[in-house]
Amino acid sequence: MDKSSIQKYNDVILELLFPSFCFGCNKEGTYLCQDCKATLEISEYNYCLCNKNPIRLAPDHHSNGKCQRCQDHKLSGLYSALPYKEKSLTRKLIHNFKYEPYVKDLAETCAGIVVEHLVLAKNNTEAIWENSVLVPVPLGKSKLKSRDYNQAGALADELSQVLKVPVARDELVKIRETAEQMKLSAKARQENLLNAFAIKNPAQIAGKKVFLVDDVYTTGSTMAECARILKEAKSTQVWGIVIAREG
Ligand SMILES: [Zn+2]
Ligand SMILES: [Zn+2]
Repeated sequence: MDKSSIQKYNDVILELLFPSFCFGCNKEGTYLCQDCKATLEISEYNYCLCNKNPIRLAPDHHSNGKCQRCQDHKLSGLYSALPYKEKSLTRKLIHNFKYEPYVKDLAETCAGIVVEHLVLAKNNTEAIWENSVLVPVPLGKSKLKSRDYNQAGALADELSQVLKVPVARDELVKIRETAEQMKLSAKARQENLLNAFAIKNPAQIAGKKVFLVDDVYTTGSTMAECARILKEAKSTQVWGIVIAREG
């Protein structure tokens, strides 16, 4: 048996032992069946980073992923596949991926959704991925310990396989714990994150375009802070890739 046959065989055995169920309709055999996937609104467009009513960008946005009012933002742009709405299937998928029961295998489902967006919005071109690396947004040590894996890292690994872009693993690290961002004001958020991240080996980042990978983009302050220090490490551009964005 060749390697892929063994993998398929293993998948069949695993499915028998631990069957998966669709998070939308409970159908057995998958985490997201085709019918439920079709109800998701996978975006065909790229939008600016703006927090309120983000502006839809023109198809030739690739040199500039931002509108006029967002030019000072540290990120060059953001690729987001879905809206992150209350009580949505998207929320349910991400919640099960990120929190208990930590369905790690959802990484593949979520990466599939992201790739579909990249293709629909015409972001999957050689020019875009040239000389780039995927960098997962890191977790602090205590969170990583309680969760046992970084969902952003699992997503980056899956994306890497499809996009053929390497993952710069453990280069961007979180060096101190921070308070939950959700509870803080915009100014307190920035202070909370200041110097919370570090780059281990700047040579891995220098001269490269970085795609920061995370599950959800909320206010963007975490990605902005990561982008700031990645730029200090001489990355040429820093973009974000997420499954969903709030607002
Ligand atoms: Zn379903
Ligand atoms: Zn904007």
